[in-house]
Amino acid sequence: MWEKSITKKLENLGIPLHMLDRSSIGLRAHTKPIIQLFEQRSIPDEGWNDDQITQLLYVLSHLDSDKDPQSIRIGEREGRISTQLLSNQIGGFCHGVGRSGELAAPQPKAAGASLMQNLSNKVSFSLLKSLGLSNIKSSLVVPMGTGMSLGLALRGALAHFQINSTKKNMVLMTQIDHNSPIKGIKYIGAEIITIPGHFGKNYYASEGVYTDMAEIESIFQKNSDSVCAIITNCAFFAPRVPDNIKEISKFAKKNELIHIINNAYGVQSSDILKIIRGAIDAGKVDAIIQSTDKCFLTPVGGAIIASPNSELIQTISKSYAGRASAAPAMHLLTSLLSMGKNGYLSKMKQQKENLFILQSELKNLAENLGEKLIDCGNKVSCALTLSKFSQDQISKLGGFLYNLRVTGPRIIDLNKSEFGSCTNKTEIPFSYVVMNAAIGVEKKHILLAIQMLKKAFIQIQDK
Ligand SMILES: *Cc1c(COP(=O)(O)O)cnc(C)c1O
Repeated sequence: MWEKSITKKLENLGIPLHMLDRSSIGLRAHTKPIIQLFEQRSIPDEGWNDDQITQLLYVLSHLDSDKDPQSIRIGEREGRISTQLLSNQIGGFCHGVGRSGELAAPQPKAAGASLMQNLSNKVSFSLLKSLGLSNIKSSLVVPMGTGMSLGLALRGALAHFQINSTKKNMVLMTQIDHNSPIKGIKYIGAEIITIPGHFGKNYYASEGVYTDMAEIESIFQKNSDSVCAIITNCAFFAPRVPDNIKEISKFAKKNELIHIINNAYGVQSSDILKIIRGAIDAGKVDAIIQSTDKCFLTPVGGAIIASPNSELIQTISKSYAGRASAAPAMHLLTSLLSMGKNGYLSKMKQQKENLFILQSELKNLAENLGEKLIDCGNKVSCALTLSKFSQDQISKLGGFLYNLRVTGPRIIDLNKSEFGSCTNKTEIPFSYVVMNAAIGVEKKHILLAIQMLKKAFIQIQDK
């Protein structure tokens, strides 16, 4: 951010003007990406270094009123903090973002934070579009996880479509055995009717847990007076497959239902994004929710709500209560600028390779154990059957893996609890263990996890 006028001011210090002009080129190259971001408002191709990101955040946060050395701050909320440490932890955005009536409204005391939030929205929007969601029109970074964001999106959609939610307070939800989306929907006072999952051959893979379109229609018909929405899922642990969202999208359009897709960690797979794009084109998709930490390698705390309807995004923004923390938007902007589009694409490529390694290693292990990998085509995780193991052995597996310092595998012991399978034990004839090759995982952790899994199998067989 070096201008010619500055060079002129320095000319009488003994350094020739041409030398200063020539030297400022290097400095300007460093700040050029910042200027380009202001102009293009989209994800840069190449990632930035930490100095560049720090400089951007410094410039933006110093537009906030609490940084003005002459400002007379007499309100009850003035971005006051007890220690500089807090300011450092929040990138200087002590005032937060939004106004009481709208999450994305410009905050007069925090022009810089508002700009930062806006850039975070635009940069993530451009990345989502370029990765495959080319038909979304708008997106919003929200300071809440996936479950709460589902509730917020539904609340906004009810307001947008002017649906009387006391009369119509039922929501169809395809079976996702995860408490957070269920709680997020219940939080806004809606009631859930679960569309049960089944196991077997389906529209997506030769076997896996899926939901059935005819069953969705018949459950809807029984409750059509009170149902306002359907929540579908595109990303869940193997052997769950994505819902048939193209058909559900047509069904939602025909029956004028709100349709929200829980795409918690689906951004890493171009195949999943393609399915969503197809669903948007085929019928009615109102909002798509993705977790910022699972998709974009930020600390936990944020989500992106995307939509093919920009007015709906505005209503969702207006449904948020109060001022919000700037941290999730800042974390996302920081992460995306550091990776750039090319950095993200290369992580997606690595994810695919890692999934392939995980699949082939687990396949070998399965053969040795007389087990099998469930052939569900999941784009992130693998499920290995545990049909030859006793319930006692299965119950020990998790503990052994934990003690071997492996975090993340999930053991679904259907005799103990069906929760997690997205179906029940009359459908699925074996227990299983799930391992993930999610974006950001290191290849060596995949290989080590397999080693430890082998070790744990030996340990449980020994006992
Ligand atoms: C992780 C996850 C959630 C929960 O996300 P939170 O951010 O903890 O609310 C919900 N649904 C699915 C499918 C998930 O994978």
